[in-house]
Amino acid sequence: MRPVGILGGTFDPIHFGHLRLAEEMAQQLDLEEVRFIPSGRPWHRDVPGAQPTQRLEMVRLAIAGNPRFRLDGREVSSDSPGYTVETLAGLRPELGANRPLCLLLGADAFLGLATWHRWQALFELAHIAVAQRPGFPLRVEQMGAALRAEVEGRMSNDPHQLQNTPCGKVMACPMALLDISATRIRAAIAAGQSPRYLLPDAVVDYIQTHHLYRQGKQWNSKQ
Ligand code: ATP
Repeated sequence: MRPVGILGGTFDPIHFGHLRLAEEMAQQLDLEEVRFIPSGRPWHRDVPGAQPTQRLEMVRLAIAGNPRFRLDGREVSSDSPGYTVETLAGLRPELGANRPLCLLLGADAFLGLATWHRWQALFELAHIAVAQRPGFPLRVEQMGAALRAEVEGRMSNDPHQLQNTPCGKVMACPMALLDISATRIRAAIAAGQSPRYLLPDAVVDYIQTHHLYRQGKQWNSKQ
């Protein structure tokens, strides 16, 4: 059974780092689909700049036309805190007990995993595929002791192992290193600079139309 990839995030806004991660993971792991699940009210960071429904809409625009990419709005439409472990537990019965699920994480998110709510239960629900990200070297010594102890026996280099079991493995996946972050995009827009070519044009247009992330100055879209 081909795995389903799960890509959660604030997506404030979605950018090419997210899209490229999804594309490369889909190829490397032969994913049947990648579910993009924007967070509702994030519990682990400051209140984001765009409303949850606007972040959802930006993801919809960004993935339009890719038949393997699918938007899942369950966290945005829920009142619960949106813990990943609960989202995965909700997906399990829908996708079937034997279906491989791969939680797709950038290296920064993976290195912080041991701070997540009931993080050890994640391995009972999904595999974890970790993408390289500039500035976050994926070395054992970068991991805290608890994370290291948990993942030691779970590491795999073989995509087939993730395709043949429903959950429990951890795989590091190379990807084109794209030094793009939503924080930097928001900061550029707030400073009146263009974010173009860091994210899809349709999302840039949406940001302009809805005056997102601006603190006064608008960048000149003709430049
Ligand atoms: P922010 O700067 O607001 O924290 P972000 O750019 O890190 O946002 P998120 O929505 O928090 O984006 O990220 C969702 C997931 O995508 C996380 O697992 C994160 O590690 C991963 N990710 C985001 N940008 C990249 C990138 N450039 N390369 C690899 N992974 C990325």
